[in-house]
Amino acid sequence: MPTYRYECPECGLFDVIKPLRESGEPQRCGRCGAMARRVFTAPMLVRTPRPLARALAAQEASAYEPQIVDRVPPGRRPPPLTGPRARRLSGP
Ligand SMILES: [Zn+2]
Repeated sequence: MPTYRYECPECGLFDVIKPLRESGEPQRCGRCGAMARRVFTAPMLVRTPRPLARALAAQEASAYEPQIVDRVPPGRRPPPLTGPRARRLSGP
């Protein structure tokens, strides 16, 4: 069963293990009984150094939303056309 993180207004963060179908329901704090709101986190990233966390997040994102390259990377652009043929292509 997955672990969900909640934040009690009094006691702070706590984790609850419960079935996915109950994950959207509010959770009562086990310590003070207040209603806690769900906190959305990537659990693995909680205590990860920032650069590593960024890299992991990028790696994860690239698995399902790869960055789409829509232009030629700088430095690989073909040289501009010159000469009579280029003048014909660019209009009257
Ligand atoms: Zn509490």
